[in-house]
This record gives sequence, structure tokens and C-alpha cells, in this order.
Amino acid sequence: MKVQVDSTKCDAYGLCADAAPQVFELDDFGYAAVRNGGVVQDEDKAAAEEAVRACPVQAIRVLED
Ligand code: SF4
Repeated sequence: MKVQVDSTKCDAYGLCADAAPQVFELDDFGYAAVRNGGVVQDEDKAAAEEAVRACPVQAIRVLED
């Protein structure tokens, strides 16, 4: 699984990093970036999918399953 954050949509809610801190990190202003180039380890997949659902502005895109 691979994910990407659309920085034009991200509104710094921070819910993705709460749901999947292994996958997303926040900058000093609360905007999200992916860790590890967006590659999600198998054991983090459920958390990443939860982050996708949690984002209030649908800023997280799944590139590969
Ligand atoms: S939950 Fe969505 S809007 Fe909030 S920081 Fe993450 S990507 Fe950005």
C-alpha cells in the first residue's frame, strides 16, 4: 500500500497522524506529510486506512493497495 497527501487539500486537522503516526507526520504548522515515501508496511495498513477515513477533507490518496 502506498499513500500520498494532497497538500493543496490538507487543512492541518492532524487526524491522520493521530490514527497512523507510523505513516504520517505533521510539520510545525500541523500540515501532514508521509513518512517513508508513502510506503505503508503491511502491519500499518489498517491504521493507514483509518487515517484515510478520518481525514475530514479527503486529502489522503491511496496510490496502490
Ligand atoms: S487528517 Fe487530512 S487535513 Fe488533517 S493533517 Fe491529515 S491529511 Fe491534513
